[in-house]
Amino acid sequence: MQNADPVAVVGAGIAGLTMALCLARQGFSTDIFEQADALDEVGAGLQLSPNASRILTDLGLLPALQDVWSEPDSIALVDGRTLRPLTDVPAGANARSRWAAPYGVLHRASLQKILLRAVRSEPLCRLHLGKRVEGDPVAAVAAVIGRRPKVVIGADGIWSQTRASIDGAGGVRFSGNIAWRLLLPGVEASTRLSASRVTAFLGPNAHLVAYPLREIDGFNLVAIIGGKPTAAAWIGQDSEERRREFAAAFENWHRDLRSMIENAVSATYWPLCTVDEGAWHNGRDLVLIGDAAHAMTPFAAQGAAMAIEDASELAHCLATCADPPAAFGRYEHARRARIARVRNRAAFNRFAYHARGPVRVARNLVLALKGPEALAADLDWLYGYDGSERR
Ligand SMILES: Cc1cc2nc3c(=O)[nH]c(=O)nc-3n(C[C@H](O)[C@H](O)[C@H](O)COP(=O)(O)OP(=O)(O)OC[C@H]3O[C@@H](n4cnc5c(N)ncnc54)[C@H](O)[C@@H]3O)c2cc1C
Repeated sequence: MQNADPVAVVGAGIAGLTMALCLARQGFSTDIFEQADALDEVGAGLQLSPNASRILTDLGLLPALQDVWSEPDSIALVDGRTLRPLTDVPAGANARSRWAAPYGVLHRASLQKILLRAVRSEPLCRLHLGKRVEGDPVAAVAAVIGRRPKVVIGADGIWSQTRASIDGAGGVRFSGNIAWRLLLPGVEASTRLSASRVTAFLGPNAHLVAYPLREIDGFNLVAIIGGKPTAAAWIGQDSEERRREFAAAFENWHRDLRSMIENAVSATYWPLCTVDEGAWHNGRDLVLIGDAAHAMTPFAAQGAAMAIEDASELAHCLATCADPPAAFGRYEHARRARIARVRNRAAFNRFAYHARGPVRVARNLVLALKGPEALAADLDWLYGYDGSERR
């Protein structure tokens, strides 16, 4: 494609903003359409693994990330009932040397702010806030920019409108799990937590991940339980009924963890949905990235990371292929198998984290026998991934 070809991105989440920045590095200018009037999402925490931070580093964003994030020394797995440590996979300096990029944790709003600042200072990016794209995305974009875009990139999240214009695209499905995102401000509230670790507490049919957030001088908690959504409202703040259901899932857990959950603030309830396998593009001028293409469960903490990898790969394909259909084909070829493998890893983590009975005993034995070094090596394919090496 030529740099003068008009390109539009629908959605200014992590996928859309990263996409626009990656395209700018390849010399393309983009119009970015975001339905929200302002990008001031409160959100919760996010783990940014080395496969994603490598790309953000290449975009020149590492200094800004380092100003706000923490780099945990390790990722610990702990029994949620007894608080017995199960294993501790080294991260921190080890992540930088083993996977050649840092592992950081930060508030999602901080990442979005950093991306937004970079987009605003990039002359090749034009952001249109308060502009929801509906109907045929190519026609909707053309009506605003005054000419037909050569490519429209749908980065509009799990409930994507642009996906509806692609024949054979995947549908949205409830995963059978509900996430609670909670915040624990103030370090003194967190005696069972370490500010130098990501800690995953495991229990039957539920797990709880905790990590430090410098932005609130406290911790982010993500609790995931098996179950069905109970209320008509899909995502939202907690209610008495939801809290009771949530507390019941942790009934047999260690009392310190239960009281930590009770003291958490800003609880948000998320029935976890995924997007099924399906077409990612129309073979002409419309292509999907991020959650719009392949939303996955957060058991491997990779949804945002995959969106960032997609953006980097698609920008490279558009810059090096003669036309959009060729670029879409190459993008899909590069991404399908990787996304499938990450989805499988998330499913495996779901199985292992929520294990009960003999499976739980076997899991604990395997973790003890393998040891931290071998567990880190198991993650080389995921965290050590560098798409540019394959090109
Ligand atoms: C509990 C939980 C924990 C998670 N933890 C992690 C983690 O630790 N690490 C990780 O990598 N991932 C994690 N994820 C996944 C991650 O949050 C998502 O995969 C990622 O945010 C998806 O980004 P996106 O830009 O594709 O979509 P979104 O963030 O949904 O952005 C879509 C954007 O498009 C806009 N939009 C939608 N429709 C339109 C329209 N029609 N016109 C214009 N604009 C539109 C929206 O307003 C929004 O700004 C987690 C997810 C959950 C639920």
